[in-house]
Amino acid sequence: MVRLEFLGALSIVGSSGVLVETGSERIVFDYGTNIQELPPTFPHVVKGKIDAVFLSHAHLDHSGGLAILMKKNPCTIYAAAPSKQMVQMLLKDSLKIAKHEGIRLPFTTKDAQSAINNFKHIEYRKPITIGNTKAITYAAGHIPGSMMTFLRIGNNKTQASSKRKKRKYNTLLYTGDFNTKDTQLINGSDTRLPELDILITESTYADREHPDRKKQEKELIKIVQSTLANDGIAVVSNFAIGRTQEVLLILGKYGIDYPLYIDGMAKKATTIINGHPQALRDPTSLDKALRKVHYITNERQRAKIIKNPCVILTTSGMLSGGPVIYYLQKLYEDRRSSLTLSGFQVPGTPGHTLMETGRLPLEDCERKIHELKLKMSVRRLDFSSHVGRKEMFAFIERLNPKKIFCVHGDNTPKFARELRDKGFDATAPLPEKRVFDLA
Ligand SMILES: [Zn+2]
Ligand SMILES: [Zn+2]
Repeated sequence: MVRLEFLGALSIVGSSGVLVETGSERIVFDYGTNIQELPPTFPHVVKGKIDAVFLSHAHLDHSGGLAILMKKNPCTIYAAAPSKQMVQMLLKDSLKIAKHEGIRLPFTTKDAQSAINNFKHIEYRKPITIGNTKAITYAAGHIPGSMMTFLRIGNNKTQASSKRKKRKYNTLLYTGDFNTKDTQLINGSDTRLPELDILITESTYADREHPDRKKQEKELIKIVQSTLANDGIAVVSNFAIGRTQEVLLILGKYGIDYPLYIDGMAKKATTIINGHPQALRDPTSLDKALRKVHYITNERQRAKIIKNPCVILTTSGMLSGGPVIYYLQKLYEDRRSSLTLSGFQVPGTPGHTLMETGRLPLEDCERKIHELKLKMSVRRLDFSSHVGRKEMFAFIERLNPKKIFCVHGDNTPKFARELRDKGFDATAPLPEKRVFDLA
């Protein structure tokens, strides 16, 4: 019997975590946080010893709770490069933000470091054995170092040769976040996946299509070029990991030849990613694009660069903090300048409020909220690194699993219903029903 306990991401995007009990091994996929909540929330507690963790990728909604998990259940965390360095950066940043906000996280810097010490690098497509279970990871195409994990349960020879009745469910794939299409930065997910019984899939864009990628790229270039032609400052606010580098490559591809700056956590993320060329689609392109970039680290430099037309890539992706706030406070009334958001804005975030109302809510040093009414032009584009609806269904149809679990989406019950209408056995784990015994 295989028992699956879904620890989080139950019809939400956040707090990913799944415990798989094979009968002899206990394996956890991801242990994240819900970054939309303050204080952040974490997946359900895992009781008892675990044998291994497989981390699908570095994003905090998958990795943010690892330090808590490791305190009670220390074991090896398998991850593909450069996830370890990125998680280290993100956990450190989480602790810094929490301190700034006056919030106590349920882990310390020391706990975070001991979690980091448990990381072990795993290569895509190189099988490893955990007790009686064989694990293989595949490129997931989401961000550098993202991986899907495949388990073959009952790999042990004595078990295989025993006369016990063959189980219905012997294989399982956990997708983590994935993208089947190539982006400028990385290749799409591995298409040569084995046959499988159980699929645990992310569902972020199961209900919507992405706009045409090429058109989005052209739109970005148009905004940047017209801003520069007007002597303005083109601010592009991105997620630090993956998105900043993707936008940088697009600017390089179209030959934007103006001073180009990277500010905030994006700087460190870019350095880490560029140190792992094997994780990139074209290892030389990022290096080449970076030759034009100047890194900005302090306010004096910030004040200086906004005196002349330039392009600034900065964080945060949803305007909830980071150096973008400095630039907006200085430029919000400048009609020549522009702000581009390169990703989805979760409802409740300042970026979402800005897109809905044209006003950006900001907290002053006394924690009072005031609003900036932006006169600079504001656009949101979609450079998502998640699989879109059409490709998601094609992916599932190709794999044709016996059983599907839908997690990591705003409305997973609807997605599971649609899959059932197509003849699949699909379920959306929910807070009230999150443990499944599969005979
Ligand atoms: Zn992700
Ligand atoms: Zn995610």
